[in-house]
Amino acid sequence: MNSNAGSASISTDRLATRILWGLVIGIVLGLLARWLSSAVPSTDKQIQWLAVQVLDPIGKVFLRLLFFVVVPLVFASLALGVLQLGRLDKLGKMAAWTFLIFAINMAVGVVLGLVLMNLVDPGSRLDEVTQKRMLAQFGQGAIEAKEKAAQLTGLSFDSIVEMFLPRNILRSVVDFDLLPMILFALLFGMAGTTLATSRRQSLSESLETLIEVMTRIVHWALMLAPIAVPAMIFSVTVKFGLEFLQSLAWFVGVVLVAMVFQLFIVMSALLKIGAGRSPVIFFRAIRTILITAFSTSSSNATLPTTIQVSRDKLGISPSTAGFVLPLGATMNMSGTALYEGCVVLFVAQIYGIDLSIAQQATLVLLAVLSAVAVAGVPGASLPLIVGLLVNFGLPGEGVAMILGIDRLLDMARTVLNVAGDVVTACIVDKRLGMSSADLAPEVSGAG
Ligand code: ASP
Repeated sequence: MNSNAGSASISTDRLATRILWGLVIGIVLGLLARWLSSAVPSTDKQIQWLAVQVLDPIGKVFLRLLFFVVVPLVFASLALGVLQLGRLDKLGKMAAWTFLIFAINMAVGVVLGLVLMNLVDPGSRLDEVTQKRMLAQFGQGAIEAKEKAAQLTGLSFDSIVEMFLPRNILRSVVDFDLLPMILFALLFGMAGTTLATSRRQSLSESLETLIEVMTRIVHWALMLAPIAVPAMIFSVTVKFGLEFLQSLAWFVGVVLVAMVFQLFIVMSALLKIGAGRSPVIFFRAIRTILITAFSTSSSNATLPTTIQVSRDKLGISPSTAGFVLPLGATMNMSGTALYEGCVVLFVAQIYGIDLSIAQQATLVLLAVLSAVAVAGVPGASLPLIVGLLVNFGLPGEGVAMILGIDRLLDMARTVLNVAGDVVTACIVDKRLGMSSADLAPEVSGAG
């Protein structure tokens, strides 16, 4: 694998540039198409047809290829990660570091968002006409989000057991609910470490082979990205436009500033202090990951790319990558946590309800916990946002205020979610001094 790393990284670089151009072209063409459809209304039908019938399916091919590999890749990476650690005491250390960085990252994100929201107070800047328009236009979406929120069970011991150990693991896999599979993969890897050396070696080789095969499929998917990304972005721009960005400009501005700060300042600091890495080199190396996260709005769909780039371009040990990244895609959502906090405060500001410091401190905790429960798919945080609103005595319908811009901010928060996973992997790798010498001797050659 390492022998290919050099040539793979050159092509990944070129690919990242092409995908980035695709992204820009998609936005520009999408805006032009929107302008055309409002200037010449008769073209609107054709443009919508192009978006829905041609471009969406192209994007779908790319997305579905990535989704194809998620389940086997998560399973094999995690199980191999644990197997390669060799000793269970190391697993405990890795888990402790991983969860600590996840928690710091998410909590800092929410605090940052809340501080900015308090300073700028965008909710009180929203005029009544816009408020009414949002409620009228997105009332139905809000009802759907509320219905989904009602299905979520509260946090009790029993619901946690159900969450991790459902009666039918295959059903949860089918629903893309990855937590039970993650637990199963951890158990699988842990059980594997207790096998006799030769068996452990062959299990490790089989998992490594499976990962390599999945990685090739990811490569193929990524080759499609320079076409699929502009197709998807064009379609999103045509369907959602940027008008809502204007009416909610203050809110969108605060959220984006907080996100940019979290991504480039907080994460750079974490990276530098925790892993001694240069943020500039880091962000250059993970461009493909960030663009994939932005265009898919899904941590899960990005995961195969995250694992591949982290191993090939950042030199993260397979064991750390296999352990931290799948967990991160499911649990570590700093962008989502930040966003949830901001939305709750925004809705409170609109309805003129003051949230005290103590309530906002509770909000930090609840936003982090609920972000952990958000699945890594587009729009997954909406029902949890409704839950949070209700929790703070705010109307769940308030979610309608942000539905018009949710898709676009979903792209941004997913970038943060995924970047946080890679930063964590870098820190854990460094803290645990993960070199091949640290891996179980009989499987250390596998990576
Ligand atoms: N789309 C986000 C992700 O996949 C989740 C969310 O906040 O809706 O990371």
